This record gives sequence, structure tokens and C-alpha cells, in this order.
Amino acid sequence: MSTLALFGGEPAISQPLKPFNSIGKEELQAATEVLESGVLSAYIGAKGDAFMGGEKVRKFEAEAAKYFDVKHAIVVNSWTSGLIAAVGAIGIEPGDEIITTPWTMAATATAILHWNGIPIFADIDPDSFNISPDSVEQLITPKTRAILAVDIFGQSADMKALRDIAQRHNLKLISDTAQAPGALYQNKYAGTLADIGGYSLNYHKHIHCGEGGVLVTNDDQLAERLCLIRNHAEAVTDADTPEDLCNLLGYNFRLGEIEAAIGSAQLKKLKTQVSSRQQAAKELNEGLNKLEGLRTPQLSKGCTHVYYVYGITLDTISLKVSRKKIINALKAEGVPSLMTGYANIHLLPLFQNKIAYGTKGFPWSSPYCSTDFDYKKGACPIAENFHHNDFLGISLCMFEFEHKDTQNIIKAFKKVWDNLDKL
Ligand SMILES: *Cc1c(COP(=O)(O)O)cnc(C)c1O
Repeated sequence: MSTLALFGGEPAISQPLKPFNSIGKEELQAATEVLESGVLSAYIGAKGDAFMGGEKVRKFEAEAAKYFDVKHAIVVNSWTSGLIAAVGAIGIEPGDEIITTPWTMAATATAILHWNGIPIFADIDPDSFNISPDSVEQLITPKTRAILAVDIFGQSADMKALRDIAQRHNLKLISDTAQAPGALYQNKYAGTLADIGGYSLNYHKHIHCGEGGVLVTNDDQLAERLCLIRNHAEAVTDADTPEDLCNLLGYNFRLGEIEAAIGSAQLKKLKTQVSSRQQAAKELNEGLNKLEGLRTPQLSKGCTHVYYVYGITLDTISLKVSRKKIINALKAEGVPSLMTGYANIHLLPLFQNKIAYGTKGFPWSSPYCSTDFDYKKGACPIAENFHHNDFLGISLCMFEFEHKDTQNIIKAFKKVWDNLDKL
């Protein structure tokens, strides 16, 4: 049996992986064309034709709407902007509660706080890492206005169950599908089953244009409100006042023409990008699923997975080895882009101290807020255990995972597993 690299042996992976790069001549040509035109953005904040942006923005939107099979695709300068626009568009009041998951990046929850809404954190499902519909149901109060689900790691949340809860309690449903463009849920694209959903186009996602986002909805009224929030709503309400002025404090969330043109080129590559990650995941599954105390990613019923992250669950109790030791050994063998999941948003200082705006505890301290949700440790036991003990992820968007790479990673895992008693 070969010695672990941790103890001076030869590492299983001796060559670094090829960094992921999907930018090619199509994107170069798209960007050059915009630069040569001199029109890097064509938006005007006043009502009129240019309110909806320039040629490349509209082209990209039409292509995205067709691709994801939705009535409206609305592009924005980041998916964080998209989330903020989505929460504003559904018309929440200060103090309203939105139930979301703690097992995500901070923007999911801060988008709610931007409108002085109160994020409430449901626990996650241990198989999919997505928000647990049962946990959501238990947290509904008269103040609940919406559910903000996240299709974490590349697989859709249980939209049928969430839709059903939303309908019974008259809630809106928003889908943060930042990590899962191209994933299917019952043959529909993830993100399109909510009232509003959408995708991130930042550098680390499946397809990207540097920074950007795409909102998708089939609701005409919500689409109009999203476009207003994207582009200085208050500048147009004089000329053409929408009936509902709630939250029409506009921002500048406009995507530039260069990014939109690159977005169009990238959309054509989504299928290839996704299938290369699915192939890597399939190979990893085949190599890793016999290892004791390790569970490879589970597919939810009716779903395809696009593997933004390859999420492994460890049974550290039966393994009798801490995850930290396992990670150190795998790292020494050269396994790239290992991660321990998400730190659980409810445990961030922002929520522990309940201070978002100013220093006096706003919005929780305001008379509009009546929530008694406690952001205490232990509020989401499954998500917390994963972060502290039992989750081990490999980010598949950081490198090109070719066949030889997945085989080397499997070799490294097997070597570490053969030596667990020595760790
Ligand atoms: C990346 C990401 C975001 C933020 O997207 P940006 O385009 O970087 O603003 C939000 N939610 C999740 C789950 C993400 O992975």
C-alpha cells in the first residue's frame, strides 16, 4: 500500500488540472463587434424604446426566453441584482417574512433584507441539500409572503411541494437557480417553475459574461415590475404610472452590451458545459460509490443535475475520522477545489447581532417587524451538521475535469480510504 502524500509519499495527482476557460473566438468576436459599434450600453431611464436597453441586450433576452421556454427573460448586471429585483417585484412590505435556506451564499438572504423583509431559515433536505418543504411549512406565520428556494449545487428544489405550499398559503415563490441553469425538473428548466427565477452569469458559474444575471418569469405584470426596478423606476412613473407603486424604487441593474453579446455566445455553450460536468460526475460516482462511509450525490425524483458542485456526504461517525483529517489527506494527494459547503447564513454576524441597517437593529427592531424566529445555533440542524462535520464538495466549475482527472481523483480517494486508520 502506498504511503499517503500527507506523510511524505508520492501524491496521487502530480499535475495541476487545467483551469476552466470557455471563452473563445465566438466571445472575442461578439465583444469586438460591440466595441467597434461604439455603443457599449443603449439604455435610457426615461420611458420609451430605449428603456428596454440596446440591441445586444434584447437579442440575448429573446434567446434566453426561447432557450428556457419562458415568456420573459430579463437580463441584469449580476444575479444578486436579479434577486433584489425579484424580491422587490413581488411587492413585499417592510417586516414581511420570506422563508429561505441557510445553505446558500449570502446574496440569497440579503436580497430580502434590501427591502426590509425578514429572512426566515428553513432546514434542508439531507439528500438534495435543498430547502425542505416540511421545514418551510412549519415556519409559516401570518407575516409570510414568499418562499425563496435555491437550486443548490445544480439540482432543482422540490418545486411541486413548494408550489403546493405556496398555493395553500397564498405565497409567492422565487427560485435562486444561480448554480443550476440547464438542470431539468420534470422536463422543464429549473428556475422556470417559480413566479420568478433566474441564473447567475458570474465568472464561476456554468456560463458567464464576467458578471451578469438572467431573470425568468411567465408573469407579464412581474416582468414589467422587474424591468422598472432594473432601470430607475422612479424616472418613468410620471409619464406612465403603473397601478402598483410598491417597491418601485429603481436601481441601475442594467447589463452592458458587451456582456450581453458575450452572454449570447455563452448560452450556445450551456449544453456542452453542463454535459461535461455531468460526465465528470458520472465517472466520479462510478469510482467512489463503493467507498464505505461516503455517499455520492443523490438525484431527486424527476430531476437532472448539472453539478456545479459534486456534493459528497460523509458518515464521519462510522468512519471514526474527522472530515478535517480526510480533507488534509485529500489535499495533500492533490485533489482540487474541495469545499465544506456553506457556513449557514443564519449564523453570520449580521443575523446573530440582528443588525442590517444602521446600528440599532433595523429592520428587526422596527415596529413593522414582529418575527419571533431565533437565528440561534441549532435552528437548522441538518444544514449545520453538514457544514461542521459531514459535507465534502468538489467544485466542478473551477477546472476542466477530464477523464484522466476524474480517475486520478478516484485514485486519491481510494488511497486515503485505504489509509484511514493512519490519519
Ligand atoms: C452565485 C450565486 C449568487 C449570486 O450571483 P452573482 O451573479 O454573483 O451576483 C446567488 N445565489 C447563489 C446560490 C449563487 O451561487
